[in-house]
Amino acid sequence: MRPHRVVSGTWRKARRGGPRRRDRSRRKLRLPWPQAGHVDSPRYSSGRQVGAKQATPVQITSTGLLVSGALVGEAGTVVQPGSAGASRARTGPAEERPRQAPAATKAGPVGIPVAPGSVRLHVQRTLWLFLPRRARDSGELDLPHDPTATAGHLVQSAGIPLTEVGDLVAAGAPVSPLSRLRERDVLEVGVISRPQPLDGPARFLLDVHLGALARRLRLLGIDSAYSNEAGDDHLVEQAGREDRVLLSQDRGLLMRRALRRAAFVRGQDPDDQLADVIERFQPPLQPWSLCPACGGALAPVAKAQVADQLEPGTLRTQQQFSHCRSCGQVYWHGAHDARLQQLVRRYT
Ligand SMILES: [Zn+2]
Repeated sequence: MRPHRVVSGTWRKARRGGPRRRDRSRRKLRLPWPQAGHVDSPRYSSGRQVGAKQATPVQITSTGLLVSGALVGEAGTVVQPGSAGASRARTGPAEERPRQAPAATKAGPVGIPVAPGSVRLHVQRTLWLFLPRRARDSGELDLPHDPTATAGHLVQSAGIPLTEVGDLVAAGAPVSPLSRLRERDVLEVGVISRPQPLDGPARFLLDVHLGALARRLRLLGIDSAYSNEAGDDHLVEQAGREDRVLLSQDRGLLMRRALRRAAFVRGQDPDDQLADVIERFQPPLQPWSLCPACGGALAPVAKAQVADQLEPGTLRTQQQFSHCRSCGQVYWHGAHDARLQQLVRRYT
């Protein structure tokens, strides 16, 4: 990381003519929390209910039975879904984003042995936000046992993208997402550990709702591609072609098989989202090196070269300028807005 001394004042850009670019990220963001449990797989779209209805919470640790209670405490910037904001942020084909949970999924009864013909997910607390509403208090969910279903498939059918999952443990032994469970198994689902290795270049691609986050990442010098009009197919294709980590709050998108590198962004406020991404991946930072508007590289530019784009007051008081090599936008550190520098200082 290149050390960077912040010039006093503010990072401003010259005003340019033309219509303002539309940015849907400025609208109030509504997170894609499940309506009633988002299930991606038709495998569990019908069937019977499993398990008993209610039980006194007890702790039983023998194989096939459940250890009740949370595995770990709350950590990080976990956002609990509010009841009022429980609608999905994105719309799409109904077959891709079913609104109703299938009858087959059911909150696991704490302390009750797993019923014959079923398996149980026991989910780490920081992943509870992905579960169907009725399972978010316990983190436990019973599913019909399907001998052909992989552990990863079961986890995603409960609404949890595998991008967010760390260790999987069944009957006390680690299992891979490709392994298959036995009837009455309890699958312990852990969250991915932080910092998470980037597993490739420190390049990101942001979903259409994350424009404000994209500008903040660029401000810190993190290569972040963003278009407010990119469709899901395009995002998946671009992430693969350019080897970028796709950042999204759409679980359906994050569950696409073709995605190799992707992550769910936690938080509704762009500053919280930024903290989440930085904490998770800890990418190298190089503040003030990228154009927040387009992500192009910034370079110093002579004052005379950009004088025609500047107000008289700026011309009089400012001496150092940068411009974007991609879009030509001119920037300088002004004197009226400390917010961006404050944000940069927070991470450098
Ligand atoms: Zn630019």
